[in-house]
Amino acid sequence: MVDTTITLEPGLYVTATPIGNLADITYRAVVALKSADLILCEDTRHTARLCTAYGIETPRSPYHDHNGERVRPGIIKKLQDGAAICLVSDAGTPLISDPGYKLVREARDAGIKVFPLPGPTAAIAALSAAGAPTDRFFFAGFPPSKSAARQSFLQSFAAIDATLIFYESSPRLAASLETMAEAFGDRNAVVTRELTKLHEEIREGSLKELSAHYSDKPAKGEIAVLVFPPAKTTPTDEDLDVFLRNALNEMSLKEAATEAAKTLGVARKTAYGRALTLKGKT
Ligand code: SAM
Repeated sequence: MVDTTITLEPGLYVTATPIGNLADITYRAVVALKSADLILCEDTRHTARLCTAYGIETPRSPYHDHNGERVRPGIIKKLQDGAAICLVSDAGTPLISDPGYKLVREARDAGIKVFPLPGPTAAIAALSAAGAPTDRFFFAGFPPSKSAARQSFLQSFAAIDATLIFYESSPRLAASLETMAEAFGDRNAVVTRELTKLHEEIREGSLKELSAHYSDKPAKGEIAVLVFPPAKTTPTDEDLDVFLRNALNEMSLKEAATEAAKTLGVARKTAYGRALTLKGKT
């Protein structure tokens, strides 16, 4: 047990907490949570568990998407008066698919010091253990739940030369993987589930294989999906067709051909001809 309390410099402490395993918290975070004047929590009941485990008795108050607008002026006032306030979310790093952005923005605009207290975040935990390339990665958060919006959201990342990281809920996983296969072609991917918890799972396969697997055996728990970057090899006719079909939903034939040429490195004439065929205009 960390017993230390210290006098914290006034400011907002953006404090990462565990994504499952309660032991995954830094010594500095526990000291800050014990020493702060107030802990802002996404859900005070959820954070109570962490506080009980570490003997943290600091007052807690809710800060989330539904009350943020209303309570922010009061929080900024407290900070201006010299308070040291920790911001936590239910899991991992606040602001990463979690509340806090507007508070940090307003605090900084008001000249208040904002301190990061780094620690777990599911995206980086997934990346560290999945075996997908790590030299470049792109965090895309949650895909939209509606199918048409999800399609165009995913399509917008198709040309990015980096490992893509998505958060997804278990009921939507299989459908989402299927849409990813349509948007990205059948790339390799890794589904990471329940990281740091009892039923931790890291499963690699092609997007189609993974989609079939999770259609048969629906997954439970919390999930982050990593999609490998596009292959550097010469694109196949199927790659070109997949790209063009998606692009033609979003843009004109001419634009789709230009995008395909740029993204896949094929001749524009080839892409244009194929786009015409797909549109049934030849
Ligand atoms: N702020 C958090 C972070 O730093 O990762 C993310 C909060 S977001 C509301 C919650 C989502 O993160 C879950 O739906 C899941 O996609 C992902 N996630 C959180 N914990 C996870 C875990 N233990 N294993 C896999 N994914 C997790």
